Amino acid sequence: MARFSAVAAGARRVASSSAAARPPAMLFLGAPGVGKGTFASRVSADLGIPTISTGDLVRAEIKRGTARGRLLAETNDRGDLVGDDLITEMALERLEDDDTRGGFILDGFPRTTAQADALAKHHKIKLAVSLELDEDVLVEKITSRRVCENCGEGYNLASIQRGDIQMEPLLPQRDGECDKCGGNLVQRKDDTEDVVRNRLEVYRRETEPLIKYYDSLGVLAPFPVRRGVQDLPELLELIKS
Ligand code: ADP
Repeated sequence: MARFSAVAAGARRVASSSAAARPPAMLFLGAPGVGKGTFASRVSADLGIPTISTGDLVRAEIKRGTARGRLLAETNDRGDLVGDDLITEMALERLEDDDTRGGFILDGFPRTTAQADALAKHHKIKLAVSLELDEDVLVEKITSRRVCENCGEGYNLASIQRGDIQMEPLLPQRDGECDKCGGNLVQRKDDTEDVVRNRLEVYRRETEPLIKYYDSLGVLAPFPVRRGVQDLPELLELIKS
């Protein structure tokens, strides 16, 4: 897998012999609203490996209306994290699917050190991309976000011009309609300003320590976001270099 060679040296330092046989595995770290999902789905298409988004897994379960879904809905609507055991079980279960055999990208998992430790027992992470963006930009970006209620594709209505941050909106071709599947575009319940502030607080407390965690494993790749999805070519270059 030549495209993952840049991190191979770092990964080798931490790879156990059983993990060596595992497929290339990478993850995206970053605050809510930084564009993890958008970048992950595009990188995924470019590399031909699936993205596994635990946020999508959570929303799918809520939509199914199961008992587990109802429990998840309460946590999700507050912007709090789902318990480590439950979310880890959901993520690891999804990672058993055949389509992950050639590699995968994790979006939104792990989000705590306990989740990272649990993941490490099963999958050797070769690259952790840390997407960086100022917090005030994050709030504006996230409250302007719209998602397809059918397929989860993301869009953004905000045009943000602040210093060296120049973000164009990411609009659908037809107002309120998903380009991919024609589904309705909606605002997520947890994308309102109050809930976003709580999610950022939770991020700082629970997830930010993972930047050091993966750095100490020698697999961290920081990536400052400047133009949103237009930064994709540079991001792909970083991943493939
Ligand atoms: P964000 O846009 O904040 O990155 P996601 O779509 O990734 O949001 O996740 C939405 C919600 O799903 C989170 O607020 C949380 O309740 C739950 N969730 C997703 N991934 C995890 C995780 N790894 N650990 C705990 N909760 C999670």
